Amino acid sequence: MRITIAGAGVAGLTCAVEFAERGVSVEVLERADDIGARSCSWYAGGMLAPWCERVRAEPLVAALGEQSLQWWCERFPGTQQRGSLVIAHGGDAAELTRFARQTERFEWLDTEGIGAIEPQLSGRFGKALFFADEAHLDPRAALRFLAHRLDSLGGHIRFGSDGSQLPPASPIVDCTGLSAREALKDLRGVKGEMLVLRSREITLHRPVRVLHPRIPVYVVPRGDGVFMVGATMIESDDAERITARSMLELLSAAYALHPAFGEAEVIEIGTQVRPAFPDNLPRIRRRGERLYINGLFRHGFLLAPALARMAADIVCNDRCYPEVMDEDPRERRLA
Ligand SMILES: Cc1cc2nc3c(=O)[nH]c(=O)nc-3n(C[C@H](O)[C@H](O)[C@H](O)COP(=O)(O)OP(=O)(O)OC[C@H]3O[C@@H](n4cnc5c(N)ncnc54)[C@H](O)[C@@H]3O)c2cc1C
Repeated sequence: MRITIAGAGVAGLTCAVEFAERGVSVEVLERADDIGARSCSWYAGGMLAPWCERVRAEPLVAALGEQSLQWWCERFPGTQQRGSLVIAHGGDAAELTRFARQTERFEWLDTEGIGAIEPQLSGRFGKALFFADEAHLDPRAALRFLAHRLDSLGGHIRFGSDGSQLPPASPIVDCTGLSAREALKDLRGVKGEMLVLRSREITLHRPVRVLHPRIPVYVVPRGDGVFMVGATMIESDDAERITARSMLELLSAAYALHPAFGEAEVIEIGTQVRPAFPDNLPRIRRRGERLYINGLFRHGFLLAPALARMAADIVCNDRCYPEVMDEDPRERRLA
């Protein structure tokens, strides 16, 4: 069996690996010249946090996220399962209680407990929530790993190709993110802005989320003194520029987490647009010979492996997953 996958973001590459592991011959078409150059996946925080995300997302996200977490742990050696920490400054302490009410699988930590797992935050916060089972990874390293894994399984990525030369009836799994909007009319963009900072003075061992009623921000350690600070959520398709306000808010949150971030180098400023459906849940949709995997919103790394498994089951074993396979009758007519 052969399959063509369009798009080498996290959805396309997890799918490619999943198919290849089942013995399918896989070719990935990527319109950019390299991994990541034009993908949303390149700019992600890489948090694999099903129970923290449960606060904003439907239970389906946590359920698929838990499956994906295991997929990453079994394959990608860079998956760091050290949990995540959620904190709030004194005036926002009620936010922590609200957060705790909406989720599960955490323990409360006091000042000592926080200092025990993150010594550099010792004495800075009175209370925190610790989600011990959560994990994080470096998205760029993960994408490169998936490309190598695909290669070792005999698969191939063709860069600089958008599939326009394929015969129209070729079977394709379409993982082109926001570019699939022509076919998936209800797909929208949600802009995310992020910074990468470098500081030799700070060590964190896990992602730290700083709760705030208006701008919740997180800091994800990437090792070697590098930290990703993210991310805004703006209803916009514009991936061109970060605003001064967003930059101020991200930097202020990092500085409030630890004042040494005030001396950090800003080594990257990034913006990208997350592909999302109106309910912010992912979908697998079939249109003729094309299967679309899309709408990963703020959960691409958290959800892609579970969706890839479903897609491979749909194609190879004719299975059906109603929880992600909605059909919009208007779109079916257009197909
Ligand atoms: C700032 C930020 C922080 C985030 N943090 C997290 C996080 O911590 N955890 C998490 O799980 N998720 C996070 N996300 C969300 C995650 O990044 C997205 O959900 C995910 O990247 C979407 O992946 P995708 O593969 O669907 O799309 P993309 O990554 O955009 O990939 C689509 C690919 O298709 C290619 N393409 C487009 N059109 C064609 C075509 N016609 N032919 C061939 N190729 C084509 C593109 O070049 C691209 O490489 C974050 C997002 C942002 C912006």
